[in-house]
Amino acid sequence: SDLIVILGHGQLARMMYLEATQLGLNIVAVNANTKEVVNPVNKSVLPLSVDEAFSAAVAITSEFEHLPLELVEKAEATGKFLPNAKAIAAGADRIVEKQLLAGLNINNCQHVIIRQLDDLEIAKAELGERIILKTSRDGYDGYGQWRIFSDQDFVNIKQELHSHNFDKMPLVAERCINFQRELSLIGITDKNGNHLFYPLTENHHADGQLVLSIAPAPKVTPELQQKAEIAYKKISEQLDYCGVLAIEFFQVGEDLLVNEIAPRVHNSGHWTQQGCATSQFENHIRAVAGFPLGSTKVLSPVAMINYVGHAKPKADLFAVPNVHLHWYDKSVRPKRKMGHINVVGNTAEQLLQTVRQVKAFIPEGLAKNLAPLLNQ
Ligand code: ATP
Ligand code: MG
Ligand code: MG
Repeated sequence: SDLIVILGHGQLARMMYLEATQLGLNIVAVNANTKEVVNPVNKSVLPLSVDEAFSAAVAITSEFEHLPLELVEKAEATGKFLPNAKAIAAGADRIVEKQLLAGLNINNCQHVIIRQLDDLEIAKAELGERIILKTSRDGYDGYGQWRIFSDQDFVNIKQELHSHNFDKMPLVAERCINFQRELSLIGITDKNGNHLFYPLTENHHADGQLVLSIAPAPKVTPELQQKAEIAYKKISEQLDYCGVLAIEFFQVGEDLLVNEIAPRVHNSGHWTQQGCATSQFENHIRAVAGFPLGSTKVLSPVAMINYVGHAKPKADLFAVPNVHLHWYDKSVRPKRKMGHINVVGNTAEQLLQTVRQVKAFIPEGLAKNLAPLLNQ
């Protein structure tokens, strides 16, 4: 039937669908909350149960790691789930993730696991004045995080967490890293364990959320790219991985610290839609379908601008050449990812010029996110 089932029905499933249909594959998505099987583009509910979809599928994959455990276990039990439950768990639970990285000797942020309120004192003593506290599960786009930068913050957070159920939701306290910049590596592993990589991407966040990617990241030495790929290979092999795996890094000098991993296609890989011979979405589908991977060759530099919390821009934007809007068709909410714009340039200079033009067509609140690129 060439059916692939995706757990989760957001924009990542939508973009995988759009690419997979061109490969002659059929994709359905599972709404992880309602367990309805839906079309990931128009979200219409299909006359199919999860069990029926799973038994008809050639592969089951995921667009999100924060999934109900029973759904992951059901997918795993079919023997068709790629990546696998182990990879989902490592992406979904920061404690499992830290253990994975420690076991592989991969540099990551110094941290203390907080299993009771008093552990915060240990964190303060070990990690210093500036701490980022994160829920161990369910956080994304900077949700479920507290920044503790002063004694007053520390007092406030202890108060706020007074009745927190630490057994149900342990926390992870990390040293706040004074990094030079944030980079991510998007790689793909096929069913035989062969890896392909895109070049490192430079990422900029606002309020804990990705707002701008610059790709390929400027000033990346071959040694730095290699360090990232070595980390990827260790993680991918440990997890018996298949599909796209994203790793977020902090660059400190010429070293990389892993911030977190994502067992799926990733927002910082959206630039590959216009920037590369084969996008991350197509390559993920190729990998889980058991097809040969497509070339990750870069065709041109891209600036990927996240369109957060605002209604669709006027079509005047399309008058600017080399600008590609990808809209997700969701209702507007503050901080919600509504779409993204890939700006393509033949040269870095041309890219800058086009981004300057785009700035005039997007809301003030988003235009300010372009500063890292325009004020460099
Ligand atoms: P995502 O949507 O990427 O899954 P998330 O909610 O899981 O986000 P993180 O990636 O852990 O959040 O953190 C979001 C951002 O906050 C990071 O990209 C970085 O800018 C900042 N940040 C997180 N941890 C640290 C740290 N230990 N030191 C400095 N900055 C940090
Ligand atoms: Mg995350
Ligand atoms: Mg992150």
